[in-house]
Amino acid sequence: MSILEQVYDPEEFRRLGHSLIDMLADHLSLNRSGGRDKVIDYVDPDRNLADWDQANPEPLEYFRKLIQNSMHLHHPRYIGHQVCPPAPLAALAAMEGMFINSGGAIYEMSQASSTLERLVIDRLKPYFGFSDGDGIITSGGTLANLTALICARNVRAGENVWQNGQEKQYAFMVSEEAHYCIDRAVRIMGWGDKGIIKVPVDDNYCIRTDLLAVYYQEAMAKGIEVLGVVGSAPTTSTGKYDDLQALGRFAADHGLWYHIDAAHGGPAVFSEKYRHLMEGCQLADSITVDAHKMMMVPSLTTMLFFRESRNSYKTFAQQADYLWNASAEEWYNYGKRTMECTKIMLSTRIYALMQHYGIDVFGRNIDTCYGLAATFAEKVKTNPGMSLAVMPDSNIVCFRLNGYPGADANDLNRKVRQAMLEEGRFYIVQTVLRGDVWLRISIMNPMTTSDDLQALIDHITDVAKRIY
Ligand SMILES: *Cc1c(COP(=O)(O)O)cnc(C)c1O
Repeated sequence: MSILEQVYDPEEFRRLGHSLIDMLADHLSLNRSGGRDKVIDYVDPDRNLADWDQANPEPLEYFRKLIQNSMHLHHPRYIGHQVCPPAPLAALAAMEGMFINSGGAIYEMSQASSTLERLVIDRLKPYFGFSDGDGIITSGGTLANLTALICARNVRAGENVWQNGQEKQYAFMVSEEAHYCIDRAVRIMGWGDKGIIKVPVDDNYCIRTDLLAVYYQEAMAKGIEVLGVVGSAPTTSTGKYDDLQALGRFAADHGLWYHIDAAHGGPAVFSEKYRHLMEGCQLADSITVDAHKMMMVPSLTTMLFFRESRNSYKTFAQQADYLWNASAEEWYNYGKRTMECTKIMLSTRIYALMQHYGIDVFGRNIDTCYGLAATFAEKVKTNPGMSLAVMPDSNIVCFRLNGYPGADANDLNRKVRQAMLEEGRFYIVQTVLRGDVWLRISIMNPMTTSDDLQALIDHITDVAKRIY
């Protein structure tokens, strides 16, 4: 067999594939049964580089090493960043999509995935209160937010920016706690410092809607044309939902584009219990929802919904005219509406889950993870050695060890977090709130239990004692 015949050998594929699935199923089982004591086997970057440089080239050895050397998101004590442990079915759908590799800008190259993209968006949009509406699926919340903002500019600017460039100074209003990618999107559009108006937050880290009018007037007086306002659902650091209703009313009163960055918490709409957090989302012009955060789907898979379907064609509309010699609104040629040209088959991962388990499964995941966060917050509140930053809305909780004479709280929490990473029994992260270091958890794994959370509190207390 030539080397290329070997590369495409179906029997080799079969052998490796079966072994890999067995390995992953064992990995999942070990994580779930508590048979794996570490969430991460942390290795210094330089040592890891040297180690991989010497790695065994045999594929099964490589597969094994990759699992061993990575963060174990399916471990119930992985409680760190906002990336989910993918549901096996969603991962299988992704793997199949990766092999078929038939996703893309034009229908004939993506017949199945484009059709499923339409179905997924159509079936999920009513939960956001969009009876008309349309949307796209793209690679990540960062890209979806940029896409929404570009669209807002095309729709709301008083000049044809897409064709002629921009003469005026535009801006978006956003919470100072918004995800940094909004700031980045504004700067990519060339609006600079003036293009992002950061509105202060209240004690709950939610945007102060009472200040919107003040900041708006101030900007307009300086000749800055405010095109829109962005709500966070929730904010990244503290997981608190902005008052989406008040933001929507303000946007409507001032003729502004209303975008909701619901990358993390948009799926609350699928839960009876937590749906109220998204109240007001039906007023939005566009909503970003990551499926790889709270919908058990592998990264990166993001939905961008538009309340008015025609707007979903306006982001890159002018450019599309010469790329596709057809009428403007063909739903099935998604390349007209996404930043991406060639695209991963993204829709299949969401479709596989909702088709098999029902859309309700997304609500159950929210109920479980958000519920666990409330449980954890109560445990922190009753612990005399710890403080809670704010009562959580979602599955994100910020808390910290109190300082004491001889132990500065910032220093203590930073060191405890670092020691925990190196030890690897739990994975949590940290953030800075009003200049102070806080520990931060996101409960992403619905298999995490209340006992795991109690063990986390005990572990943090132990580590702190050991360090100081
Ligand atoms: C995670 C997150 C993002 C970034 O999304 P990616 O999918 O990581 O690109 C943006 N905004 C919010 C509110 C987020 O939580």
